[in-house]
Amino acid sequence: MKIPFHFKVLIGFILGILFGLYFKNDKVLEIKINEDVKIIKDIESISLCSHECLEFKQAEIKKEIINLDKKIKSKDFKTLSFKFSGREEIFSIQDIKYLKVKKNIYDLFEVIGKIFIRLLQMISVPLVVASLISGVGSIGDMNKFKKMAFLTFSFYFVSTVAAIVLGLVLVNLFKPGVSDSFTASSFAFSSAVNAGFDLKTFLIDMVPQNPFKAIAENNMLQIIFFSIFVGVVLNSSDKEKVKTFLSLTDTVSEIMIKIVINVMKIAPMAVFCLISSVIADAGSDMIRKMFFYMGVVIGGLLIYLFGFYSIYIKFLSKTSVFEFFKGVKDVMAVAFGTSSSAAALPVNFECCEQNLKVPKSVTGFVLPLGATVNMNGTAMYQAIAAVFIAQIYGINLSLYQQTVIVVMAVAAAVGSSPIPGVGIIMLVMILNSVNIPIDGIGIIIGVDRILDMFRTVVNVTGDSAACVIIKDRISETK
Ligand code: ASP
Repeated sequence: MKIPFHFKVLIGFILGILFGLYFKNDKVLEIKINEDVKIIKDIESISLCSHECLEFKQAEIKKEIINLDKKIKSKDFKTLSFKFSGREEIFSIQDIKYLKVKKNIYDLFEVIGKIFIRLLQMISVPLVVASLISGVGSIGDMNKFKKMAFLTFSFYFVSTVAAIVLGLVLVNLFKPGVSDSFTASSFAFSSAVNAGFDLKTFLIDMVPQNPFKAIAENNMLQIIFFSIFVGVVLNSSDKEKVKTFLSLTDTVSEIMIKIVINVMKIAPMAVFCLISSVIADAGSDMIRKMFFYMGVVIGGLLIYLFGFYSIYIKFLSKTSVFEFFKGVKDVMAVAFGTSSSAAALPVNFECCEQNLKVPKSVTGFVLPLGATVNMNGTAMYQAIAAVFIAQIYGINLSLYQQTVIVVMAVAAAVGSSPIPGVGIIMLVMILNSVNIPIDGIGIIIGVDRILDMFRTVVNVTGDSAACVIIKDRISETK
């Protein structure tokens, strides 16, 4: 019997959760002090001190521990101390001969998971360039292109605002931050993170000075701008002259899709590796503590995914809701496993073109653009997270401030890159705009990676929904 692909991914996912809950990813340190070798486990916090101390707690320990050796060698600090298993040990940095993090099975899982994501990312730039050029270049009728562009941007904008408003309604209704299960001071977030969105810079930066540099640096917006421009010009060029070039771009996109089909063979295993690491890193204690907050975010995302997208599909397209979800289940599985819209993009092409019969001229434009600017899940998550943090700090947000959150979350969704964890970084600018302490990010960072999986599914499904809607709207007016 042949097991369907999404079912294999689901098995990988469930086994991954069980494995991650059972086998914790504890970082065990081996440290040599003069002639003694010590093993340190169950670390609660790490401090590096000279005149002042730098302290890492909670989720930061996992990130910082890998760089600890470098920090020690930099000679900027005099002592290193650990709180672990209820006690504290302080070492003089001079006496430390070496310090290494012991390898465990999750190091191997990381290799498999990261290779899988990279394989998908490897395809996305050539695929976006080839599909956009061949898609836009073979439209022929420029009025049709203008209509498609207008519909795409309108749908992306309206659906993003709807997602943010739904998020705000839910977080104000359930108030997950008004609870005594935690206080703001029980979490620490000391790293200075800064991010901002400036429309002027955004517009200027969209135009590449050198398209090859944009391609080499993976700058999606610049790549999209250049490819659309080439496509538009091809339409007004002598058909005979550009025929070979157009068929070349078409072949390149075919080849990329074939590569995707092969890469997907390892998806169930890769998803197992990725999910088990995420769960093992977050730890069941953290998940329990943040249960209510996670429930509101995940609940909102699921309502949007199955409720709002169904409404959009039912009323704006000719495809049935069932057909739609059946057609996109593979890309949903990949988005969930990788937390990256960029990695899921090649699979989205395959789902929309093969299963939902969306023509290349539509997928080629709508999908790459959507993966970069349309992030309904991220926008909703940011709105909920911002108000949740405000609730914990006892800050009451006025209607005006919540409107500012809507505007900023739209900008943040446009500005977020389609890769894991970016949503939480962009959250900084939203918090800044309504004066919520950015340290609050320390509260939610521990479970962010889990929520990232859900919001990425909503992000990519929004792009597929746009494809189906635009396909039907355009064919109606032919
Ligand atoms: N991981 C998300 C995506 O790639 C972005 C984010 O919200 O962090 O779509």
